Parts: sequence; structure tokens; C-alpha cells
Amino acid sequence: MEDYSKIFTLQKKLFNSGHTKNTTCRKDYLLRLKNLLEHNEERLYEAIYKDFGKSPFDTFNTELSIIYKEIDYYLKNIGRLSKPKKVKTNLLNQPASSYIYTEPLGCVLIIGAWNYPYQLSLMPAIAALAAGNTCFIKPSEQTPNTLNLLKEIINNNFPKAYVYVIDGGVEEISEVLKLPFDKIFFTGSPKIGRVVYEAAAKNLIPVTLELGGKSPVIVTKSANLESAARRIIWGKFLNAGQTCIAPDYVLAEKSIKQHLIRLFKQNLIEFGYKEGADCYTRIINKRNFDRIKTLINPDKVCYGGETNEKHLYISPTLLDNVTWQDPVMQEEIFGPVLPIISFSDYSEEINKLSRLEKPLAAYLFTKDESEKDLFLNKLSFGGGCINDTVMHISNENLPFGGVGNSGIGSYHGDAGFATFSHAKSILDKKGIIEPDLKYPPYNEDKFRWLKLILK
Ligand code: NAD
Repeated sequence: MEDYSKIFTLQKKLFNSGHTKNTTCRKDYLLRLKNLLEHNEERLYEAIYKDFGKSPFDTFNTELSIIYKEIDYYLKNIGRLSKPKKVKTNLLNQPASSYIYTEPLGCVLIIGAWNYPYQLSLMPAIAALAAGNTCFIKPSEQTPNTLNLLKEIINNNFPKAYVYVIDGGVEEISEVLKLPFDKIFFTGSPKIGRVVYEAAAKNLIPVTLELGGKSPVIVTKSANLESAARRIIWGKFLNAGQTCIAPDYVLAEKSIKQHLIRLFKQNLIEFGYKEGADCYTRIINKRNFDRIKTLINPDKVCYGGETNEKHLYISPTLLDNVTWQDPVMQEEIFGPVLPIISFSDYSEEINKLSRLEKPLAAYLFTKDESEKDLFLNKLSFGGGCINDTVMHISNENLPFGGVGNSGIGSYHGDAGFATFSHAKSILDKKGIIEPDLKYPPYNEDKFRWLKLILK
């Protein structure tokens, strides 16, 4: 195993030298990363295809283009984001000026998940570096080809005192987690999120946890069903359902459910999702293949349900007449299986959802403003869309993250910069004259004045 504590010491030394605080140097590194990724684009496509059959189209659309955009965003905004911000000074402290200084945290650890192996490792790293930190990146070992390529691209082209990719699994990360990082950013399951949170607590390390959950889609009878079906099917079966913000299940108003299912089937046929198709990835490994397979109750399959263990293929599957008690409703599916449940009373359904764990995403298809209001005011979830699925992630002006069981903190754009920064508040006193009021000895008069001023 590598001597991680040695690399950690190197990173701390570099950070303490002030080198990474220089915004020109940060921009140079980000630009270098972008150039390297562009230069290696074909190899990035090959590696991810070997890992789980993801096509260049999907890889560019859902990983590389988002990474490039994030780098460009920071190249343009680092100056604005790093500048001290002047804020008002209250009467009590006059004469003075007040500022918020944005400073990097230090040496940070980023742990990524496998399902978007480039995006989930690099997006937080880009934010961390833009904010002036050094970082360790631990991509998932479940996607070994992308892990090796990221390791090669980064470790061969950047000083390890600045950014370093860890090659390994649980044994290696458990060792790394003993180091006193200044921040840990974790993407993965709530189960492992707890392990990371506990390890961080030992050194009082702040954490951001990007976790998962069961993200609902609600379709009411007022919705445009053609557009709803198309957007739900795309969001669900992208990456073969292995997307943290994919619709996990559909709640459809009873009167439109059968029509919606017909439209779902029509879209699945049109999109051409099938074994070996460019637009349809494999299941990541045998363990997940077996897990997802057990969630498919053959009696409830109304479309799909085919599997091929040799190719880790599960066809897009729709389940009808699902109940809340079915096994498929007890855990995050994270695969190409879409259960559909019908409802007759919208507000009752919203009440039911509000009692469940807070999901990472939620989606509502409606044209009715009052339904929209109830959805937004009653339900707590990480983020989501009205009349779309998944696309909120593509707007860099929207912070991305969970709440409750689906996570702590957020990133992307300004939110990512803030996640890897400390807001240092400074009161800069101008004069030496001030009332004697706050200093002892205290007396009745002073107390009266104090109440008058501070109330
Ligand atoms: P996971 O929790 O199994 O693994 C995530 C990372 O943790 C991997 O790098 C893994 O090597 C590492 N890890 C494993 N054991 C560890 C330990 N004991 N200590 C520290 N790190 C350890 O998750 P996964 O299977 O890679 O991803 C699937 C889950 O991630 C789903 O729940 C999904 O919803 C969630 N997810 C969330 C987001 C998000 O942005 N919120 C994005 C993608 C995936």
C-alpha cells in the first residue's frame, strides 16, 4: 500500500506555503486538467465502455460535457468567488468595516461512486481545486478501467503534493480515512456515508455527503402525458437506471395510469433500449445484477423483465399494480426497473410521501398550480423538477445535494466553491474611541443603556 500519510504531509506543506491561494495558479491547473481530459477523450470513452458498456454519446452528455462546463465556470468566476465581500457594519460596532474572506480549507478527501465515475470524482475535485485546496481523489474500485485511467492522467501530470488519485478499495480508503483531512466529500450509499461520517467525527472533519434514496415521480391527470412519459422514460433508463437522481418509482393518478403505461411502452420501443444497444448500459456487477433481479416480481411485469447474466443485462422493465409493501418499494432500486403505483387522492399521496425518508430528488408532472404548490411546500427533498426529470442537475446555477437521509451539503458552481471554502468573518475597527458601556465595572445606568441599544 502507498504511504498515504507521506503524501498527506506533502499536500499540507504545499497548502501551507500559500501556493494554492494564488488564483492564477489555480486557473492554470484547472486548464491543464481540461486539456488533459480533452486530449484523452477517446481513451476515456474506451475505459468507461469496458467498465459497464456506457457509450461515447452518454459519456459526453452526462459526464465530460458537465465537467468541461464546470471547469469553464470556475475559470470565469474564480476572481469573483475568491474576492473578500464587503458587508454592512451594525451600529454597535461603528466606526468599522466588515468583510467576509473566502479561504480554502486545506487538504481535502473526495470519495466517488462508480455510476458516473468521471463526473462524481472530478466535479468535487474541480470545485476543491478552484477554491484553493489540495486534494486526494478516491474513485470507485467497481469501475477499474476508469479508475486506472484517472490515476494515470492525474498522477502522471500533476504533483502529488497538489492532487493525487488513490488506487484501491475498502482497505486503502479505511487507511486514508485515519488522516486528519480538512474536509471529506463523499458520494455513495447512505450505509457507507455513515461509516465515513463516523470516521470524520474522530478528527472533527466537516463532511459533505452526497447520498441516494427513492426518488418519486408523481403524474396527475392534468399533466401533458406524452411529454411526461418521454421525460420519465429517459430519466429512468439513462445509464440503465443507475443514476442517483433517476425516478425510482411512479405514482400515477388512477384515471390516467393505463394511458401513461401505454406511452411508457411506446417510448421504450422508440428509444431502442435493448441488449448491446449504444444507448443502454450494462449493470455494473453480478452483485447488483442479482439484487435488481430479485426486485422483479414476474407477476407484476407489464413490460420487459428479460435478463442475461453473462452480459449483466436487465431489459427496461415496467411493473404494474405495485403496492407499498412490495420488496421493490423497500430499497433504492438503482437499476432499470420502474414500479408504477396508482393513487386517487393527490393530497393524501403527498402526505404519505412527506412521512418517508427525504429523497435526493422528486418530480411532479402537472399543469395545476395548486398541485405544484402542495408538492413544493409539503415535501422536503434534495432537488427536482416540475414537468421534467433529472435535468435540474445540468443547471450550474442550482446547488446539487440531498437533505436528511439523502445527504448533507451541496456542490456545483458557486455552491461547490462554498463547500470547499471557509467564510472568515472580519470586523475591521477604524477608530479607538468607543463608549465605556461594555466594560466593567457594570452599574444600573449601563444596564439600562445596554437594554436600550441591544433590544
Ligand atoms: P458505495 O457507498 O458502495 O461506495 C461509494 C464509495 O465509497 C466507493 O468509492 C467505495 O470504494 C467507497 N467505500 C466503500 N466502502 C467504504 C468504507 N468502508 N469506507 C469508506 N469508503 C468506502 O456506493 P456505490 O455503490 O458506489 O454507489 C451507489 C450509491 O451512491 C447509491 O445509493 C446512489 O444513490 C448513491 N449516489 C449518490 C449520488 C449523489 O450525487 N448524491 C451520486 C451517485 C450515486
